[in-house]
Formats: sequence, C-alpha cells, structure tokens
Amino acid sequence: MGMDWYYQGDRGPEKWKDICAIFKEAEEGSLQSPICLNQKDVTNWIASGLLQFDYHPTTFETSYYNHTLHLAPIANESINHVVFNHKRYVLEDIHFHLPSEHLIDEKSFPLEFHMVHRSPKNELLVIGIMAEPTMVPLNEKMANLDRKALNPRNSARGLLVPIDLMQLLPDELGFFHYSGSLTTPPTSGPVNWVVFKSPVYMRQGLLEAFKEQIGKTNRPVQPRKNRPIYLSK
Ligand SMILES: [Zn+2]
Repeated sequence: MGMDWYYQGDRGPEKWKDICAIFKEAEEGSLQSPICLNQKDVTNWIASGLLQFDYHPTTFETSYYNHTLHLAPIANESINHVVFNHKRYVLEDIHFHLPSEHLIDEKSFPLEFHMVHRSPKNELLVIGIMAEPTMVPLNEKMANLDRKALNPRNSARGLLVPIDLMQLLPDELGFFHYSGSLTTPPTSGPVNWVVFKSPVYMRQGLLEAFKEQIGKTNRPVQPRKNRPIYLSK
C-alpha cells in the first residue's frame, strides 16, 4: 500500500496525515483547502483586473491518476498562462473532483474542476470552477469538448484532444481568492486559490458519466482559521 491514499475508509481524508510523515507535515505546516467561501465572510475586495487569461486552443492528453481524470497540455506546450496579481503562471494540468470541494455560500455543486498553474519560481495558482447540470443543448464547441475530452467514458489513457480553454470558463468571471493548499496528498501549501463564484453548465448525462466512472473524489472543507477571503469587484 505504501503511501496510497483514498477518499473513503481507513486511508480516507481524515487519516491522510497518518499515512506518512510527509503528508502529516504538509497538513500541519500550511493553511488547508478546500474551505467554505461565503460572501458574508469576505474580508477584502480585490480588483477583477488582477486576473487575466492568456489561453489558446491547445492539444491536451488525457490520463487517469490520483483517482480522477487529468488533462495535460501535450509535451512542451506551455502556451497557456494566467496573470494574477502581476505574476505569470503556466497551466500544467486540469482535473476533476466530485462533488465540489469548495462550498459557495454553503452550497455544494455536483462537480468542481481545477486548472493548476505554476510560476517560474514554482509558486502555485489553482483556479476552481463549479459545474451544474443543464438541460439546454450545448453549443457545438462545448459538445465537441464533451464528446472528446470531458467524457470519462471516452478518455482512455493517452487520448489527444484539442480544447479551447476559454470555453471552460463561466460567463460571469467574478471570483473568490484566498491562500490555502493542494487538496490531494501531500496537501502542501501555499497555493493561491481563485474560485469562480458562478458555475459552468454541463450536460446532465456527462455529469452522470463522471459520477459512474470517477465517483466521490472530494476532500471535505477545512477550518478557515481566520484567513482573509477576497472577492473580486
Ligand atoms: Zn484538485
């Protein structure tokens, strides 16, 4: 078993810190994620212009590890960036959690996906996006994503999929920001979190496919410990 960890049972989230010294140190040595993001708890405003996207249509490769589906830009394709608070971060991975890890105004969502970015100095910025089901037919671009990339039934290891990343963002770009950690072991920090307040909409059948193929993959919310929570304005 070694350092294997799970989302349930005696190697579930409450026991991660008992699996090995590295996990224990990560959990006890930094402020943890996810947390509940409540508008009533917001301590500061942050200018929305401090978050900027420099995303381009990119080919991603699918893989499955840490109990979920991952999409990584194919080798050496580091053309996608965000600029946050005047610092540039490169996108390196997109992956999925069910149900959502963060709560927004106490509300859980059926799915949350994370876009993991890293700065040249090895600092992490993760963008969290909530998904809700829709009955409305999706436009052709989104349907293409749906068929090829996001449907875990189709995404065998090593499948190559073109994705227009801007299509993955919600229409409303208001966001929460706080400092926390990774949500999978080792849950080390600091991680700069940006979590969109509005969800994106996914086909109900796609969310069901995720539920069947991936299932419960969320760490429960962690104590906030008086951390500042920022909301964009
Ligand atoms: Zn994640």
